[in-house]
Amino acid sequence: MSELRQDILTGEWVIFAGNRKSRPYDFIKHSIPKTSDKTDCQFCPGNEAMTPNAVYQNAADGEWTIRVFPNKYPAVNNDKSECCDEDFYTSAYGNGIHEVVVDTAEHSEAIHDFSVKHIAEVLKTIRLRYNEMMKNPDIKYVEAFKNCGPESGASLMHSHWQIIAVTVVPREQKVICERNNEYKLKNGKCAVCAITEYELDKKIRIIDESDNFAAYTPFASRMSYEIDIAAKKHIKHYGDFSDEMLDELACMLKTMLKMVSGLRENICYNICFEDTPKDCDGHWFMRILPRMGNPAGFEYGTNSYINPVLPETAAEYYRNILVKKNEVVK
Ligand SMILES: [Zn+2]
Ligand SMILES: [Zn+2]
Repeated sequence: MSELRQDILTGEWVIFAGNRKSRPYDFIKHSIPKTSDKTDCQFCPGNEAMTPNAVYQNAADGEWTIRVFPNKYPAVNNDKSECCDEDFYTSAYGNGIHEVVVDTAEHSEAIHDFSVKHIAEVLKTIRLRYNEMMKNPDIKYVEAFKNCGPESGASLMHSHWQIIAVTVVPREQKVICERNNEYKLKNGKCAVCAITEYELDKKIRIIDESDNFAAYTPFASRMSYEIDIAAKKHIKHYGDFSDEMLDELACMLKTMLKMVSGLRENICYNICFEDTPKDCDGHWFMRILPRMGNPAGFEYGTNSYINPVLPETAAEYYRNILVKKNEVVK
């Protein structure tokens, strides 16, 4: 069962997906992993029969390093059997596509330890699936994300991404689009283009830049040590990136994740692609959200965040590590 229900007061869409209750869970509590290993891991090469058939795989069974398949416990699906029929409220079938991208053959390898070349191949695979999902006329928005570690919401230890394509525009993306349009009307340019230019000029919150990308700690970061990576050019959709740009993005992403992984031992984090919904104008960017603490009552009550670390402090911290390491990322 999968159903979308919209909150009358906030406009927020909630996905009800009862089948996800039965999905396997690799962590006993918080960060203590069960002794889950290759033999019983559905994401390890050789165990392909434990998942639905692949929609993409970069080599034969047992030999691949990237494999994509439909989520066995999807949050959204093509089932139209159940939907609330109360006219008072707004609801919709929980239709959409939910895929898993296993991004390494190694059971315990974390993305911040992948080679840049491999991260680039992962980013290109996500683009391939993104473009395929966006072809579907019913799909309005595609979200690619990665949960690293149990405090980030990950249920399985083996590194993977998820891509969820939905038939409604989530509130966050709707608000971003509306505010970006207002900003453009008032200032004559896209807000993300303007932010990137401003940050590159002021160099207060900039962590690093390359030919096409800028990494910075956002002015109103919700989480401590949060990082945004945006293209300097106005790129609307993730599918619009060239191979060369994704090679460059892979290098920037690895540099940032390496630093995030050093924030503390076994740090959990999320990577979220902020794409532009269909029929809207916007500017793709990526959020890296270290989980230094969990949202609590105030955050849930107000959707406003209390952050103990100013982004200027976080940027300085990251810049110092970059200089100290003076590391050539390979
Ligand atoms: Zn595994
Ligand atoms: Zn822009």
